[in-house]
Amino acid sequence: MIVDKFNRVHNYLRISLTDNCNLRCFYCMPEEEYEFTPVSKLMQKDEIETLSKIFVGLGVNKIRLTGGEPLVRKDAGEIIRSLSKLPVKLTITTNGSRLHEFVDILDESGVHSLNISLDTLQPEKFQLITRRNQFEKVYENIQLLLKRSFHVKVNMVVMKGLNDGELIDFVEWTKHQPVHVRFIEFMPFTGNRWTSNKVFTMQQMLDVIREKYEVTRLQDEKHDTSKGYMVPGHQGTFAIISTMSANFCGDCNRMRLTADGKLKNCLFAEKETDLLSALRRGEDIVPLIHQNIRSKAKELGGQFNTDFEHLHPEDIHNRSMITIGG
Ligand code: SAM
Ligand code: SF4
Repeated sequence: MIVDKFNRVHNYLRISLTDNCNLRCFYCMPEEEYEFTPVSKLMQKDEIETLSKIFVGLGVNKIRLTGGEPLVRKDAGEIIRSLSKLPVKLTITTNGSRLHEFVDILDESGVHSLNISLDTLQPEKFQLITRRNQFEKVYENIQLLLKRSFHVKVNMVVMKGLNDGELIDFVEWTKHQPVHVRFIEFMPFTGNRWTSNKVFTMQQMLDVIREKYEVTRLQDEKHDTSKGYMVPGHQGTFAIISTMSANFCGDCNRMRLTADGKLKNCLFAEKETDLLSALRRGEDIVPLIHQNIRSKAKELGGQFNTDFEHLHPEDIHNRSMITIGG
């Protein structure tokens, strides 16, 4: 078992397959000319398998593939097939633009629940946020997955003055389709233009939604990072991920492996452990994993707290989101 010094058992690994992406969401990818990590420095398919098996041997029972965009990686399908043979719940977070190419592989591999990011239902705003013209493709692919009976969670990063006016449209979407929307508070990462006044908090979201709907609070599952709700009679649900205003670190069970093979014990951890280089040198990485998790801070990587209104993003030492793996 992997346990930290606050007795939190860590059984959930998020693996970034690449820091490359076919979209350019401004809140994720730094604006200056961004250089993707060369392929030789990324974990190779067999290295991902080896590392995953080691984590499974230490009690990991859930793996999420993420990135960058995991489905731009050429061998993504092979990696999905291979990891699906492990005794884990395998899942994926994707921007949705390539899902039509992967729907059969996901189905055959038993990956029937996935998170798809979509921050707006307006094509022009999609272009503004992602700097790419892919709204129709992403929306079509969500429809395709719903038709094939996948459990679809839609991740929407809510940013004040940009898309907070669309909360009702997203909740309305849950009326006729079984989509599970997750509203995410905007988080600060290196180079992402975060300022505290762009955060639209959980309370503000609930206030807006409750003006229009009667909502019911749902029972959350253990380790859920989101607080679930539904409008009675709607087919889908919505949930809120309140990292900034009400963190859920007390129950954290997550670890992250970056695409270049560094272990991060928190999205906001500064310290990383280079598992890939150790693996390539033939070293035993198990003690490195335990050491890294033992050093995990109590909350938010030890870098800030819920008083985000006084937070200066330049004081946080981290990577950009695209290089961590969300
Ligand atoms: N490319 C895939 C995607 O977009 O779903 C997977 C990687 S992306 C980094 C994972 C998730 O992190 C997405 O849902 C994205 O919206 C979220 N994310 C990225 N930057 C964020 C930020 N600054 N605040 C909150 N969520 C963020
Ligand atoms: Fe790419 Fe996902 Fe980041 Fe957008 S959020 S730039 S789709 S990795």
